[in-house]
Amino acid sequence: MRTPSIGDVFRARRVLDSLLPPTPMWSYPALSATLGADVLVKHENVQPTGAFKIRGGLNLLAGMSPEDRQRGIVGYSTGNHAQSLAYAARRVGASCTIVMPEKPNPLKAAAVRALGADVVEHGETLDGACEFAGKLAAERGSRLVSAANEQEIVAGVATAYLEVFEQAPDLDAVVVPVGGGSGAAAACVVAAAVAPGCEIIGVQAAASPAAHDSWRTGELLKRPNRTAAEGLATGAGFELTQRIMGEHLTDFLLVDDGTIAEAQWVMLRDAHTLTEGAGAASVAALLAHPERFADKRVAVMCTGANASERELRAVTQLPAARVA
Ligand SMILES: *Cc1c(COP(=O)(O)O)cnc(C)c1O
Repeated sequence: MRTPSIGDVFRARRVLDSLLPPTPMWSYPALSATLGADVLVKHENVQPTGAFKIRGGLNLLAGMSPEDRQRGIVGYSTGNHAQSLAYAARRVGASCTIVMPEKPNPLKAAAVRALGADVVEHGETLDGACEFAGKLAAERGSRLVSAANEQEIVAGVATAYLEVFEQAPDLDAVVVPVGGGSGAAAACVVAAAVAPGCEIIGVQAAASPAAHDSWRTGELLKRPNRTAAEGLATGAGFELTQRIMGEHLTDFLLVDDGTIAEAQWVMLRDAHTLTEGAGAASVAALLAHPERFADKRVAVMCTGANASERELRAVTQLPAARVA
């Protein structure tokens, strides 16, 4: 599969221009004080599906032929990729089936159904769901949409990073939460073209380190997948995104789930922003590695807001002393 070029990203932007307004990027003095850096929050949480992935889904479906749309799409996802595909499929009148791992975040499953897609629960983790989605797509002659090995998805997601570098041309670093790696790969493609001096730093949950370990070793590895942050919960490295991250990613950090929960609280308190775990992982990276970012100008990607009710209640009940 070809690495998307910056030209592909500008073409994706033309597709998305009439469908999604740019998202804001704000700085919050209280947040910068807590994190000890000059922090800007890129608010992908305000997308209509509550996560950045909608950019990729809309671009992918827009590029499909009418015949392919007729045959429908099958995706596998813990929730946000699912909402993106369902939203985009509804827009062009394509049928959409999503395989979610068993016991999904109920709010995410309900949101996918409300967008008119069929939801099938299968497998304990995303890997099991992926295998079943492959079978379904083959039976039906539908297009199987990968979570990360999709050039059009990376190009669509990359439009967020065009906005980031237009909104703040003078960044030292952008911190990107990583699951399958579409976001980090997209950041790499754009930074290489328009902001080569800016560091792109990935962050993944230590409880699901497949992308991190694959990047460190240069091999596509499988790893345990136990994080509670659904958006980061992948068990294997993906070829396309690992290839791009291998060329351009500056660094890759791990954070534990406890620090992710603290970061969710910090985002509520200091940035008045509701996040799901994955959406606060960039802030968790700054909490866990303050020396790495001290006094730098850093954009943190707030990738999503689709927290479950249980998660929200847990975050608001964290003991006060744990967060500075
Ligand atoms: C999917 C997702 C991520 C990880 O993105 P990848 O492109 O899979 O690496 C991060 N945050 C949220 C909210 C997500 O939904």
